[in-house]
This record gives sequence, structure tokens and C-alpha cells, in this order.
Amino acid sequence: MILDKDQGIESELEERIGLECPYCGVYAHMSPQSIPDAASLLHDKPKHVGLVYQCDACHAPVFLRFAVREYSENRVELLRNFVELERPKERFAFSYLPKETEVLFREALTCYSNNSFNAFASMCKRAAGSAFDALGEGGKLRGFEEVMAAQGIAGIDDETFAPIKAVLFGSGQNEDLPLLDRAQAGILLEVLKDMFYQCFVRRGKLTRAIKVRRFFVNENASNF
Ligand SMILES: [Zn+2]
Repeated sequence: MILDKDQGIESELEERIGLECPYCGVYAHMSPQSIPDAASLLHDKPKHVGLVYQCDACHAPVFLRFAVREYSENRVELLRNFVELERPKERFAFSYLPKETEVLFREALTCYSNNSFNAFASMCKRAAGSAFDALGEGGKLRGFEEVMAAQGIAGIDDETFAPIKAVLFGSGQNEDLPLLDRAQAGILLEVLKDMFYQCFVRRGKLTRAIKVRRFFVNENASNF
């Protein structure tokens, strides 16, 4: 990745980047849109340089930060790896969740999008706890059954699944939670989404759909 004082971007940089777009969520090619002026970089010699790319799918601007590898007389060499300043957001049908669960789960997903996997785990524990309360008596058991069913469907072995169960159903405090890595956090994310779907979203969608059907049946009946 080279920015040249006279020639601008060198061919390597024009090579596009593949990335999950933080706006449209599509894994798309990104083309360079705004490139810093090499002459002023050579003058100031910052350690990091920001570039704006354009998403080929939705044309939104995507900001990336590169570390400078080396300054030479006429050119700036950037390291190939970069930091995404805006990460894609995880989506969920939040409107079906109980209010408190929604607030906590939104924050959990923000932690996840920012790669803060243990903050994510703590927020998952709180979100799950509030969901069990909202489900009323036997709520925790209901959640547990859904999660065990999800483990079976996804074919996750017990050893891998133990920390996920500990986060969601352990009776201890936050300081007793196991440390999660990216892979475990990913499983926790999908399992909790599934549990919320089974406990709230599914029922909400089904009752809403049936209500609409009934409404039209009654409308038609009253027309005859
Ligand atoms: Zn896009």
C-alpha cells in the first residue's frame, strides 16, 4: 500500500478491499474514494492515516485507518491491515422483547460489535436475567430448555457449550463469569438470539399474524 507524492495512489492501493459494510451489511468490495495528500503526510509524518472507501453495494462512505509502515523521500508506505472505524451492527427484532431486555440486549450487541467480548458476556447475563423475570415463574427453566434444544440442533459439544451455559444460567456474580474469546462469544450471541426468538419473537409474530388474519375474516364476513 503506497501513496506517492507525484503519482498519487500506486496500483496496489487501487486493488479493492472486501469488507462487511457497516451500512448495508453486505459483504462488498470497497473502492478508494478519498485519499490523503502524500505531500502533507510526508511533511507531518503521522503514525496513522485515514482513508475513505466507498461501498460498491450501497455507495456509503466507509472510514478505514491504516498504520504507516515507512516514510521515504517521495512515498508513504502503509501496512495492509487496517482498523474499521465503524463496525457492522448486529440486527435483531428488538421490538418483540420486553422493554428492559431490549435495552440490555442492545447494549450487549454494541459490546459485541466493538469486539468487547467479555463486556458482551456480562450484558448477555443481565439481558437473559431480565428476560427470565419477564417470562414469570419458571422463566429461567423455559430459557434453559430452549438453550439446550439449540445446543442439540446446532450439534455443539458439552465442553464448548459449558462457558455459554455458565454465562446465561450460572448463579454467581459477574466476577464468576468465564472469560470468552471471539469464537465463544459468537456462539453465545447466536444461542441467546435463538432463545429470545423462541421465547418472545416467535409468539409475538404468530399472535400478530393471526390477529391480522382474523381481522380480514371479520371484515369479509361483515361485507356479506
Ligand atoms: Zn454498503
